[in-house]
Amino acid sequence: MSFRLSSSARQFGDRVRRWLAEELDPAWQQRYQPSTPEWIEFQRDWDRALYRAGWGAIFWPSEFGGLDATAEERVVFAKVMAEAGAPEGLGKLAKRLLAPVLIHHGDAAQRERYLPPILRGEMVWAQGFSEPEAGSDLASLRTTGTVDGDQLVLSGHKIWTSHAWYCDAIFALVRTARLQRKQAGISFVLVPADAPGVSISKIQQIDGRAELSEVFFDDVRIPIGNVVGALGDGWRIAKTLLRYERGAEMAFVRSAEIRHSVRELTADLSASRVNIDDRVRQGLGRLEAAYLAAELNSLRLLGSQADGDPPGDLSAVVKLQQSEEWRRGTVDGLHLLGGGALSRGHRHFGRYFHARPATIASGSSEIQREIIAHRLLGLPAGTRAGTT
Ligand SMILES: Cc1cc2nc3c(=O)[nH]c(=O)nc-3n(C[C@H](O)[C@H](O)[C@H](O)COP(=O)(O)OP(=O)(O)OC[C@H]3O[C@@H](n4cnc5c(N)ncnc54)[C@H](O)[C@@H]3O)c2cc1C
Repeated sequence: MSFRLSSSARQFGDRVRRWLAEELDPAWQQRYQPSTPEWIEFQRDWDRALYRAGWGAIFWPSEFGGLDATAEERVVFAKVMAEAGAPEGLGKLAKRLLAPVLIHHGDAAQRERYLPPILRGEMVWAQGFSEPEAGSDLASLRTTGTVDGDQLVLSGHKIWTSHAWYCDAIFALVRTARLQRKQAGISFVLVPADAPGVSISKIQQIDGRAELSEVFFDDVRIPIGNVVGALGDGWRIAKTLLRYERGAEMAFVRSAEIRHSVRELTADLSASRVNIDDRVRQGLGRLEAAYLAAELNSLRLLGSQADGDPPGDLSAVVKLQQSEEWRRGTVDGLHLLGGGALSRGHRHFGRYFHARPATIASGSSEIQREIIAHRLLGLPAGTRAGTT
């Protein structure tokens, strides 16, 4: 049993680091304010730069333009990028979540039409799953899709949709049949953002960003060919997608975020007039320990995935530990730096507000604890829906 990455994976990581040293503007975060047109253009440029370098979608099969990267190379890539503070680009949802769905469940026409522009960084997609009454309990979604000849007519309301107000298209779950089991009768559809009847409004966040949107479908007509897989089979398809969302790659990204926080906080404290006393050393020591535990857990998750296990119970433990430690680290940081760290313009401001949503997105901390209590401790399942 080894808790180290293989030497070939480490060499691959070195190649990525060398490329980053040449390509990445280290001051980009100071230069571009999130959600501004300049920031969006910079992120799009980054997607194109990744494509030109051959890093567009390393884990896709080579027949679709990927590099057939192993699970280990895939996480090394995500980890090195996150540690360098590289932008994520706007293509990440499509590359990581939609593309595997199209490859496994889409038809040839869908793959041919959508995979090349996603790879080249020319098509931004948003994920339209959550609704006002369907977040943790996603299967309660109410947006409908009604078959009308060779078209599907969509009506409903999506919320918390990342990247939506500047996206080109949305992959969404809609209800195409009302059956006894609420997971049945859901379909996975592809919706152009400029289709008549689609309207999108930004949600202003507390930290000044506007990364999220509400999306309204008002009798939106899409060809029936925009359904991925069979009509009514969307829940099974969505589960493939969620598997990628909860896998080792995201675990390494989150552990890199914790590491980043510790390093930046240490630098901020050294640069400030805060006395590096026992209290500060205790706080930073605890954070560094949290980072090392997060990194080890990511390796465990990678190991179990390499053995062919789906990210299941272990991924709930990893997601809970990492997102809560990251959030807690930013609270500790605030105590150490003082209240001024929450003023706009202070580096801690963005860190502090960025860590909170991570405890909600991709399954909230309560949901992860429910999964752990039920599946690992064998306690009866809770009475509220949403943990399957
Ligand atoms: C930054 C961010 C980005 C997001 N991006 C997207 C996106 O691109 N596309 C998309 O579709 N969605 C997105 N979401 C939405 C996200 O998936 C939901 O917020 C999440 O699933 C929780 O749903 P909810 O907000 O409706 O809260 P609810 O499900 O209503 O939960 C409310 C509270 O009740 C708790 N709770 C719920 N069920 C249980 C239970 N069974 N047991 C115990 N406690 C429970 C929750 O933990 C929470 O504290 C994003 C969210 C965030 C924060």
